[in-house]
Amino acid sequence: MLSRPPVDEKRAAMRVVIVGGGFGGLALARRLRRAPLEVVLLDRRNFHLFQPLLYQVATGGLSAASVCTPLRYVFRGAKNVHVWLAKAVGLDPRARRLQLADGEIAYDLLVVAAGSRPHFFGHSPWAQVALPLKTVEDAAAIRSRVLAAFEQAEREHDPEQLRALMTFAIVGGGPTGVELAGALAEVARYTLRREFRRIEPSLARILLLEMAARILPGMPPTLSARAERTLRRLGVEVLTNTQVVEVSPAGLRVRRGVLEEELACGNVLWAAGVEAVPFVRAVARATGAATDRWGRILVNPDLTVPGFPEIFVLGDAAATRDENGQLLPAVAPVAVQQGRYVSQLIRARLRGKPHPPFRYRDWGYLATVGRHEAVGTLFGWKLWGWPAWLLWALVHLAKIVGFANRLLVLLQWAWAYLTFGRTARVMVEWQPAPSSEGNS
Ligand SMILES: Cc1cc2nc3c(=O)[nH]c(=O)nc-3n(C[C@H](O)[C@H](O)[C@H](O)COP(=O)(O)OP(=O)(O)OC[C@H]3O[C@@H](n4cnc5c(N)ncnc54)[C@H](O)[C@@H]3O)c2cc1C
Repeated sequence: MLSRPPVDEKRAAMRVVIVGGGFGGLALARRLRRAPLEVVLLDRRNFHLFQPLLYQVATGGLSAASVCTPLRYVFRGAKNVHVWLAKAVGLDPRARRLQLADGEIAYDLLVVAAGSRPHFFGHSPWAQVALPLKTVEDAAAIRSRVLAAFEQAEREHDPEQLRALMTFAIVGGGPTGVELAGALAEVARYTLRREFRRIEPSLARILLLEMAARILPGMPPTLSARAERTLRRLGVEVLTNTQVVEVSPAGLRVRRGVLEEELACGNVLWAAGVEAVPFVRAVARATGAATDRWGRILVNPDLTVPGFPEIFVLGDAAATRDENGQLLPAVAPVAVQQGRYVSQLIRARLRGKPHPPFRYRDWGYLATVGRHEAVGTLFGWKLWGWPAWLLWALVHLAKIVGFANRLLVLLQWAWAYLTFGRTARVMVEWQPAPSSEGNS
């Protein structure tokens, strides 16, 4: 059993252990490069994942490698940063030891930046049917399912089975659901055009289900309306005020007002929200910290766990409030700003100086709704249409980690833009759509 990183048995410097090399953990570790500290960045994956473009991996527009950057590569020149491939499973906060699946490590400061996982609102059997989008494996599974559904449909003779195979329901009308629906509609309408002999892919039924009264509920109503119009133009059926009450291999049961309705559907994609990962819940149990209903730890204004000034929680794992007392959303800029904030606070502590509480600067948020169309806000201004899309594209290109990945994404986008083609249409370990079990 390891009790120390082998790199530093007689460590003189303070050791900061960061769990999670996502947006928050990466921003923090980068800012601690060359600090007089020993930094151990550990992640259960060996790469940083750029989640905002996962929907393009799921719809064949980008290869998985273009949105993943090896953590070792990012820190190859940073002598004080040790990258560990390890899974954190628990914590002994009194002894300041972090338990790993295959050992443990002592820390002076611990930063929990372990993110979130898909939330099925306590209906774990739904996870057997509905495909979430959170990891590269999820994206590969969605891509395989979508492509397999068309393949199966091409050979299906039973009209009901055919209809189910060609029906795609996306649950959740937030940015991920909207982007996925738009991209899926483009796959059906443009990418697969002329490739099949018996079926017409453009006749696929794509449903976007949202419990609230409008999609993109976090954006101004005019932008939600514009996004809905664009999706409808692409052929997406947008069902608002629609609550999913059952998910089964045959499809969905939904409640709309007082009425319940069955929707036969062979492909259910889940974009309805996230909750804290199990390790974050373990940290809450070990420290006695309170959590919100998504399992996120309610942290102090300086992002420490109450009673434990040496433990920080940030990003999707933390429940933090803005100056109006509103919970901050689970988005990348919150995680990045919190990572940077913790680096400043640690440096201030090293100098023995006080540091003000965390304050989130909300620049805005953009979501794409298909080809050269996006909606969003920037410094409180509303943006839409191709200027919003161009800004979205530039921001995402700038934020992807690593020059090679930027180039890869740019090339794949350029190809897709000119040809409507999607180059990453690889099916791996695909499962037949659940409703097609009776296929002959
Ligand atoms: C499909 C999708 C699209 C999105 N689009 C946008 C968008 O357009 N704009 C936006 O701002 N936000 C978007 N988000 C949200 C954004 O990605 C998250 O808010 C952000 O990633 C949170 O950062 P984080 O550092 O808290 O966690 P993550 O970036 O999720 O990083 C967590 C890391 O912790 C690691 N980890 C987890 N558990 C353990 C463990 N036990 N041991 C070791 N390592 C562990 C994980 O492997 C991961 O690398 C999107 C999210 C998804 C899923």
